[in-house]
Amino acid sequence: MKTSSRHFLILLAAPIFWAASAGDVDCQGLRGSLEPIDRYEFAPPPSPELKYKHDPQNPKLILNPDFYCTQCIKEKRVSYKSRDELKSILETRVIYPHTIQGKNSRVHGRHRLVEHDADVVLDYLFKKMKSRRPIYIEDKTFRLYIDLDGFSTKKHRYPRRKTELKELSDIFPRVSEKTVKLDSHQRAHLYLNRAHRVYRDFTHIVDFKPNAKYMAYRGPYLGVKEKFEIFVFPKQRLLGEFVNTFLGHPVTLEGECWHTLKDDSMISIMNAENMHDVWLNNTFTHHLAFNFCDAFRGYGYNLPSWFSLGFGHLMERRERTDFNTFFYGEGREPDELWGRSRWKPEIRKMVLKDKVRPLVELAQYTHKNEITPPEHGPAWSLVSYQMQLGTEKFGQFIHILKDKKQGESIYNLQVRAFRTVYKTSITQFFEDWKTWVLKTYPPL
Ligand SMILES: [Zn+2]
Repeated sequence: MKTSSRHFLILLAAPIFWAASAGDVDCQGLRGSLEPIDRYEFAPPPSPELKYKHDPQNPKLILNPDFYCTQCIKEKRVSYKSRDELKSILETRVIYPHTIQGKNSRVHGRHRLVEHDADVVLDYLFKKMKSRRPIYIEDKTFRLYIDLDGFSTKKHRYPRRKTELKELSDIFPRVSEKTVKLDSHQRAHLYLNRAHRVYRDFTHIVDFKPNAKYMAYRGPYLGVKEKFEIFVFPKQRLLGEFVNTFLGHPVTLEGECWHTLKDDSMISIMNAENMHDVWLNNTFTHHLAFNFCDAFRGYGYNLPSWFSLGFGHLMERRERTDFNTFFYGEGREPDELWGRSRWKPEIRKMVLKDKVRPLVELAQYTHKNEITPPEHGPAWSLVSYQMQLGTEKFGQFIHILKDKKQGESIYNLQVRAFRTVYKTSITQFFEDWKTWVLKTYPPL
């Protein structure tokens, strides 16, 4: 929910992000140290078969596009000229199980951005703002505005490079596993593909079923009514101008996540200033994972802070451990930084010295500011421990967190979740986690 007064974050040497959802979230990203990544079971890779058919006479022309892309139009990779021609693909009618207020269905996916007519917003982004290579892509799930230079895929090694290039070749037949430099258009589609990867992992974890009972009367985008909006600006200045113009948020913001009350969509806004692609990918992953969690089964209330913060870290640190995004509640000015050194030995030391606030206490909070910067470490580690106990159980846990009964407190909701899924109390789970940390995390 929007508040009338805000404190602005001051930009420190490390990039700082502010992420606010309706539940008010702030965040900050910093460079850290590389350490081995915990292994989790995630979604199986997508089918290696390419889904787009290209014209044999003109290989760059895609014959069956299921997305709208401003740059594909410019480069004549598609035959449509306007979004209207794709309306039947981009918009979805959801049928209700019963008539509600005289209606038995609703159309979702209308042409909206930041609670405005999308044409107005796009006109601003493409014509009024000093953007350099603006590209807008919309598909069935996402709306992505992105303005980035090309980059070298070999500058930093990352394990998914080949798979990502293969996926890109579906749009760009000239891209192959040997391609080193991607241009800004290719990079835009790369980020759309990455959004789908995080989405695949999330839906795999929660075993998402669009036709399940819990989705009745909900929006088709994991439960919210409008699509996930993502904005990636090349400079903080442009991001600030945008959030100030359309959301009335401070121009000093570095990034934010936001739930729109009117449209019921999840927005993620970030900037890529001075960031290598691997770091941008980290922050991008964190933002999306966080928003998926909030959107899942509808955005009704704030999740326990330790869990949503921990889950965002988990998804981000699975990519790389040397860049971490810290979300804080709206209005927070971080007075301490944590997370530059290796996380595991630091957390182990906190456990050894009995410096971690018990989970029974952390579990009371839903405002992100009530978790201190050093507590982001244990929050991540607790969620990581949950993942070690099995993805299916972890998914069940999320389902219960998103199914608060009338009158049930957030704390009692977690008591029920731990009891149902792990057959234990919050206190015992915390003790088991500490034992696990001392046994598996390396000393300083
Ligand atoms: Zn395109």
